[in-house]
Amino acid sequence: MINYLARLWSLGTQDEPARWRRQIALTNQVGIFAAAATAPYQIFFIFYGLWPYLGLFCANLIFIAVYLSVVYLNHRKRHVLARKVMLCNACSHAFIATWFVSSGAGVHLFYFAIGSFIALVSDRGNNKLQAVQPIAIGALFVTSHFAFAGTNALTPLPQNVLDVMFAVSALGVLTLSAIFSFLFHREIDLAEQELTLNNNRLSELSSTDTLTGLANRRQLDKLLAQACTRLQRRFQPLSLVMCDVDFFKAYNDKLGHIAGDVALQRVADALRNAVSRQGDLVARYGGEEFAVVLPNTDEQGARRVADALRYAIADLHLPRADGDGCDQLTISVGATTLSTPAAQVSPEQLLQRADEALYLAKANGRNRAEHLYLETSSVDMMLVDTPPLKATDTAFS
Ligand code: GH3
Ligand code: MG
Ligand code: MG
Repeated sequence: MINYLARLWSLGTQDEPARWRRQIALTNQVGIFAAAATAPYQIFFIFYGLWPYLGLFCANLIFIAVYLSVVYLNHRKRHVLARKVMLCNACSHAFIATWFVSSGAGVHLFYFAIGSFIALVSDRGNNKLQAVQPIAIGALFVTSHFAFAGTNALTPLPQNVLDVMFAVSALGVLTLSAIFSFLFHREIDLAEQELTLNNNRLSELSSTDTLTGLANRRQLDKLLAQACTRLQRRFQPLSLVMCDVDFFKAYNDKLGHIAGDVALQRVADALRNAVSRQGDLVARYGGEEFAVVLPNTDEQGARRVADALRYAIADLHLPRADGDGCDQLTISVGATTLSTPAAQVSPEQLLQRADEALYLAKANGRNRAEHLYLETSSVDMMLVDTPPLKATDTAFS
């Protein structure tokens, strides 16, 4: 039942912005509930004696039809018209019904529900209209309250019946106002959830490399900077590994760029699977280069990971297009470790040192890994002053 109703009041909301969706849904809800709220009065007239109250009974039927036509208008995307029809119909309905049965029946109390409806759906920025509408509704309430009191009504009802009707009307107004507010807030909650979801999706997209699904350069820079800042608070060895696919230009030239892209995706998957610790980050640094951040990892750990990465790529058995007699695609790996506390270390210093180690691996014949320490003395200096490569740094392939 609720699902059916929800589908009914969602008519016309498709493809509309969230704010409009809320207003359209609320207009539909008011239309549906106002039609439903008139039903008890109609049932009462049928059982109490239709003939003396036939005028109001027929008028109510027309009002009900117009309430329901609002849903149809929204369905046809005539949203502004739907809202105007809704407002005019509800105002006239309360006025005419009060005129028929007197203000003792409390039907004019529904002006309060109408007031809260226009407060929720009125356009922000239209200040004049926002001021005039509540005044007009207040004037209608006061007029119907005093002009149609007691014997001024067209077809007055006995006092005991009026008392019951007043209670029903008051209850109806309170219930409808509570339902409209609840449903409107629910729409706001849903819009907020949608917004949060979109934000998460956006931030995921902005931090992910589209080809490989790995973290991209932006995410790498961010997490590396965070890792460096953490070292200031609590020192732990930090390692960074750079990988570069060997002779990848030849691979592309020989097998085509599509095959090159597929190879990069497989390399990325293999690298991702080769690191096991939760804090480790594998990122695409750019082109056919990848970086792996290894927090709380010393030289030994970095070397182990570097070898694991090399073996993981060799295990893919992708063809080699050029090079030194090796028949499968390989990577060269450069690793660096900051193993002693430093006054300050920047991501650029780590990246540069890992790049130097990678250069060494390439120079020493590719398909191998080299490790260089990031020394504390160099860490405190500017990048241009980074000392030359140490001869004692060993190859380990
Ligand atoms: P080296 O062993 O010295 O690293 O040689 P290399 O050929 O791998 O290095 P080079 O820097 O000369 O060429 C890198 C190539 O990687 C160039 C380009 O064809 C390829 N490449 C970079 N990014 C992509 C990509 O997103 N898709 C594809 N298919 N190829 C890429
Ligand atoms: Mg390269
Ligand atoms: Mg390369």
